[in-house]
Amino acid sequence: MTLTQNRPVRPASLTEAFLAKLVSRVQSSGGGTWRLTEVYTGDLLVELPQSSPADIQRAFTEARAAQRGWAATSIEDRLKVFKRAHALFVDNAQLTADLIQAESGKNRRMAIEESCDPPMVMSHYIKRAARLLAPTKRGGPVPLLSSSTEIRQPKGVVGVISPWNFPFATGISDAVTALMAGNAVVLKPDNKTALSPLFGIQMLENAGLPKGLFQVVCGEGPDVGPTLIDNANYVMFTGSTATGRTIGERAGRNLIGCCLELGGKNPMIVLEDADLDEVVQGALFGVFGNTGQICMHIERIYLPNSRYDEFKVKFKAAAEALTIGASYDFGPELGSLVSVDHKDRVQSHVDDALAKGATLVTGGKARPDIGPAFFEPTILENVTKEMLAGSCETFGPVVALHRYDSVDHAIELANDTDYGLNASVWGTDLKAAAAVGARIHSGNVNINDSLATAYASKGTPSGGVKQSGVGARHGDQGLLKYTDVQNLAVLKKQVLGARPGQNYEDYVKGMLGGLRMMRKTGIR
Ligand code: NAD
Repeated sequence: MTLTQNRPVRPASLTEAFLAKLVSRVQSSGGGTWRLTEVYTGDLLVELPQSSPADIQRAFTEARAAQRGWAATSIEDRLKVFKRAHALFVDNAQLTADLIQAESGKNRRMAIEESCDPPMVMSHYIKRAARLLAPTKRGGPVPLLSSSTEIRQPKGVVGVISPWNFPFATGISDAVTALMAGNAVVLKPDNKTALSPLFGIQMLENAGLPKGLFQVVCGEGPDVGPTLIDNANYVMFTGSTATGRTIGERAGRNLIGCCLELGGKNPMIVLEDADLDEVVQGALFGVFGNTGQICMHIERIYLPNSRYDEFKVKFKAAAEALTIGASYDFGPELGSLVSVDHKDRVQSHVDDALAKGATLVTGGKARPDIGPAFFEPTILENVTKEMLAGSCETFGPVVALHRYDSVDHAIELANDTDYGLNASVWGTDLKAAAAVGARIHSGNVNINDSLATAYASKGTPSGGVKQSGVGARHGDQGLLKYTDVQNLAVLKKQVLGARPGQNYEDYVKGMLGGLRMMRKTGIR
């Protein structure tokens, strides 16, 4: 492992005045602040205002007022805002990356990738939203004399709760589609990573988004969550499975919809015919990208007995050659974990595995010499389900290698988890690899890639199954979930039911004959 730089120089763009202006957007009447620190150094970046229940209610009141005018704005005019915003987001990608890096500690390569997610989402829905939201005329029960139109109405105010691992992508991209559909948004980012989404909102407003439409409240989840959910018309949540369950329960009690994007324990299956050099490159990103803090990242790799040793040697060498460092340039391939608490959690998974009989191939240690929350790329063997690292999401740069005897055995092992977020299958026979992928119980499956291909395919819904979530982002449902369907039905003449004075036996005979005729002709 190569160390790139020890003392990071904070970007000059992150001035006190700039950060103070960003956090002034948080709805807060002065009830306290939270120390938002630079991960690489632990130094204070800014005091983040915290929101009381009264502040959250005010955020909803203001959002609701702004939403009325926004919903009455034509979709064409709404989309003009996002066309301008797309350009602003791309132009400001470097500044966005400065903020993302400072608050999350990830390396610059990943911060820049993250800055591109909202423009990609905007670009997809700029093309698609008008068609999706247009009224769709359906046939009524009686041909020619009746009609029914499916009309998409915005839900109202959508509560978005986002995590720290992709604060800009989850905080902004999931809000963009809600806004396009005519809703207002109240966002609750993680305290640690509120700056980049606040900057995203600033850019959206500079692009013409009406003031007040996109609100931000901050605080610890259990303090803010209940008031937020009780005031929202829909909740979009991204985070852990444990919190997702709490959010889902409360949304259910309030009879509002929610989308829950949760954790994973994602497997990779390497087939006999896979090109191992490509697998190693794919696994490097899949396992260690974002320092292992991607919900779709790979924590289990299954290899055929015949290729296990060859892969292990190559993968170990590649992991040990990764550059790791605290720096705001594109040098380091691996950045920090998000916090000292999270580093301790990752360490506890590794220690638990080693204490219970796992073997260390490489890594396994924190790196306080680089920064307070750095952790080495870590490869384990002989991990079992009795170990934390074998059954729970570790969410760090840690992976376990496993052998399999047959493809059926590999699929059985891959499916032996409560999670179902992402899976990766590698092989040169694409048809065979896809057939294996189809047998994995997972919302996303990447063939010859770890995760990015599925996530970046914005036209296809992406979500988890089993304990990894409910609903999806992206695709048509990524927008339509933020709408209610109104069925506007028109009857042009009173032809439903018996006519006044008509013999009911005759009416039923005619009606049943009509049903037979419509089936036969295929009219209905
Ligand atoms: P977390 O569940 O602890 O927190 C997520 C968000 O929920 C934060 O803003 C937090 O403050 C808030 N929160 C916590 N308790 C709450 C409560 N009771 N009510 C309301 N809000 C509450 O998750 P995390 O540790 O921040 O994020 C990491 C997790 O997120 C991992 O499990 C990862 O797999 C998952 N994740 C999933 C996806 C996906 O698309 N499936 C994407 C990114 C992250």
